[in-house]
Amino acid sequence: MTDHPLTLFNSLTRRLEPFDPVHPGEARVYSCGPTVYNYPHIGNMRAYVFADVLGRTLDWKGYRLTHVINITDVGHLTDDADAGEDKLEKAAAEKAQSIWDIARHYTEAYWTDIRALNIRQPAHWSIATDYIEAMIAFAQEIADAHCYELPGGLYFDVTSVPDYGRLARASTDEGEGRIEAVEGKRHPADFAIWRKTPAGEKRQMEWDSPWGRGAPGWHLECSVMSGKLLGFPFDIHTGGIDHREIHHPNEIAQNQAFSRCGSLDNPAHSGARVWMHNNFLVERSGKMSKSAGEFLRLQLLIDKGYHPLAYRLMCLQAHYRSELEFSWDGLGAALTRLKRMVIAAERLADAPEGALDHPKFADLLDRFDAAISDDLNSPVALTLLEDALAVKKVDAGAKRAVVARMDAVLGLGLLDCTRADLRLRPKGAAVTEAEIVSALARRREARAVKDFATSDAIRDELAAKSVEVMDGDPLGWEWKL
Ligand code: AMP
Ligand code: ZN
Repeated sequence: MTDHPLTLFNSLTRRLEPFDPVHPGEARVYSCGPTVYNYPHIGNMRAYVFADVLGRTLDWKGYRLTHVINITDVGHLTDDADAGEDKLEKAAAEKAQSIWDIARHYTEAYWTDIRALNIRQPAHWSIATDYIEAMIAFAQEIADAHCYELPGGLYFDVTSVPDYGRLARASTDEGEGRIEAVEGKRHPADFAIWRKTPAGEKRQMEWDSPWGRGAPGWHLECSVMSGKLLGFPFDIHTGGIDHREIHHPNEIAQNQAFSRCGSLDNPAHSGARVWMHNNFLVERSGKMSKSAGEFLRLQLLIDKGYHPLAYRLMCLQAHYRSELEFSWDGLGAALTRLKRMVIAAERLADAPEGALDHPKFADLLDRFDAAISDDLNSPVALTLLEDALAVKKVDAGAKRAVVARMDAVLGLGLLDCTRADLRLRPKGAAVTEAEIVSALARRREARAVKDFATSDAIRDELAAKSVEVMDGDPLGWEWKL
């Protein structure tokens, strides 16, 4: 049932490659996590839905998974290249709050979204500030051969390792797109691995180091946490495509330096055998960016009455390497599709889980495995799950087992969900669900005695409160807001 070899697209070699674990039977995965200075937008969450589907697929293929996601609570500058202020210091100054409170608040908010999207908990959430000592030790290890000091801190010399920037799509020879904000850098792409607190300033987050009091660079954090928790080389490193340009090339350079590794012709020299990147969720009006004021948070979707799993389904409908355009219509269509699946799954609720080897499902399971093994083809896997739900005249227990197994990969939680769960009341709606249900009951009574005047009046009353009565809805939905 899981015989198709798992192939994954490696951004480093730009090829589809069969997955070949470093430790037989195991899969060790590191995902770049959020910088917790603001709420995540739904584009950020696409990165974790992708990493989650990857983890669930590795499970499906029988690997023992160790997944790490980090939480960046220090060191990420407002510009990914080497310029600007620390995002958390800036947020703390603007809000006149302690950095630790800000980090805690936004970490909790991120975890709330993680749960709402059925993203499984990784083995470790690594918090950057818990690893400062390890970061200093790592930097000491590479400082002599690969770094130089400037008044601003310790800088990594990108010419000191072979193949710097191979991962990046754009040529980085000229340091393309980078602001050369730091005087004395030998190469525009050189980056700080330790930033000194400027004389006379006091930061909320700073530590003593051999290069003065200051804070680690963002790239250093991920190298240290991934290496410490998973060991170099580990299997798969993930992130959004923006990380292909600066963050991951810099992590790779540090990893090569630390492990005294040569050319990236051997991808394992990068610290991970496979680098995987999800494409962006885009929005035409450009509101996604966290810095542009109002932005699309998962909570906004929920407030408008969309179940968060409709957003997960929307992500699954696109291949992770394709750009995905967000629209409210698209989200509405995803919600309808989810409703249909949940209604079909509801019929299985009482069935005892049967055996997986029912002949009616053998072909579907095989095609499902082929799809998900083909660089996580979730759009096709999703249609196969729908096909399984639609199989007629078959033992309900066998169907339940197949649906549960496929859904363990896609993570929609179909068997734990009812159609009532999917109907969220938009924030600020003028009526409660109980009021709607009782009005509809009165309307049914009126219709039963052919009192259409009363029936229509109730319908209009509800319409005035933005409740649409849906007679004869094929999904059996009686109303919507
Ligand atoms: P950040 O908190 O900015 O470090 O981003 C967290 C994750 O979200 C990173 O893996 C980014 O690459 C990813 N990301 C940022 N914007 C988007 C987007 N619009 N669509 C998909 N992934 C994104
Ligand atoms: Zn990272």
